[in-house]
Amino acid sequence: MKTRKRVEYMWLDGRDPLPKMRSKTRFLDLEDVSAGIPDWNFDGGSTEQGSLEDSDRSLVCVRTYKDPFVEEGWLALCEVRYYSGAPHESNTRSHLTKLTNKLEGILVGFEQEFTFINPADQAPLGFLLSPQQQGQYYCGVGCMNVIGRDIVSEFENRCAKAGIDLDGINAEVMPGQWEWQTKAQSPVKCADDLWVSRYILERVSEEKAVIVSYHPKPHEAFNGAGCHTNFSTEKMRKSFSSEDWEELLPILEEDHFEHIKVCGDGIEKRMTGECETSDYNDFTWGVGDRGASIRIPQRVALEGAGYFEDRRPCANIDPYKVLYSLISSVKKSSLL
Ligand code: MG
Repeated sequence: MKTRKRVEYMWLDGRDPLPKMRSKTRFLDLEDVSAGIPDWNFDGGSTEQGSLEDSDRSLVCVRTYKDPFVEEGWLALCEVRYYSGAPHESNTRSHLTKLTNKLEGILVGFEQEFTFINPADQAPLGFLLSPQQQGQYYCGVGCMNVIGRDIVSEFENRCAKAGIDLDGINAEVMPGQWEWQTKAQSPVKCADDLWVSRYILERVSEEKAVIVSYHPKPHEAFNGAGCHTNFSTEKMRKSFSSEDWEELLPILEEDHFEHIKVCGDGIEKRMTGECETSDYNDFTWGVGDRGASIRIPQRVALEGAGYFEDRRPCANIDPYKVLYSLISSVKKSSLL
């Protein structure tokens, strides 16, 4: 039997280099959402995806989630396409889907850092109330050491309602700065979940009238905000020895500046070689080294199997672009 369903169509706008989520609501008489959400359309002239004369763009649902803000509602993550069916230039997801269609066994996980900003003074939330130096805030407890936990807790609950599994959450080194870790998943699913969880955080923060910033360096006296990307192939999870590193790392070094191009706007402010970063001009790697571009975890070195962490991506990355670039490089090795 068909019943009225509330569906929130969500898509990425055409702002480059920093696309943002947009969404609008549609009420549909549907029997079952799993049978498919019909295509819809929007005014691309208002999202930098069209012009006044040529504004109609198509929304094609590619994944559904439960709407964590509405009983019995759904979120429909959409790709933006032309009416011909061709992906719009801003549709970076379609490139990643094409690249990974026939690739199996890749797992990725993101560590998404971000900063709450107080709209009244445009400073990090709680910044003016607390000592303005690094030290007491990372994983802090107590009102002078941690700011914004109520918002983060609500975000966590809403993600669970939507069916998005987070791997963890922690307060970061600056007041109002936090991080969540996504579950390790296949590339497109993980990037989809990251965008949808960013959307959920924006919605929760909207209600609290707090700004969510993914700026890579919100304050010069503190560590910046990154989106460290953990990566493995099936082969690496079976064996990832120093011989494999010797094959893979020179390839990543060769492609370093291709990667840097998609590692976030303003990367030069964050990756200075200070504050737990490598200089963005250099490719570096190390075992257990948090000052390197690529970190091989100690446990992976000991066990000779596992993953690597790419520490270059900034908080404001488009995960579809970062994964496209990284997978294109790893594909040149025998590890994929
Ligand atoms: Mg962190």
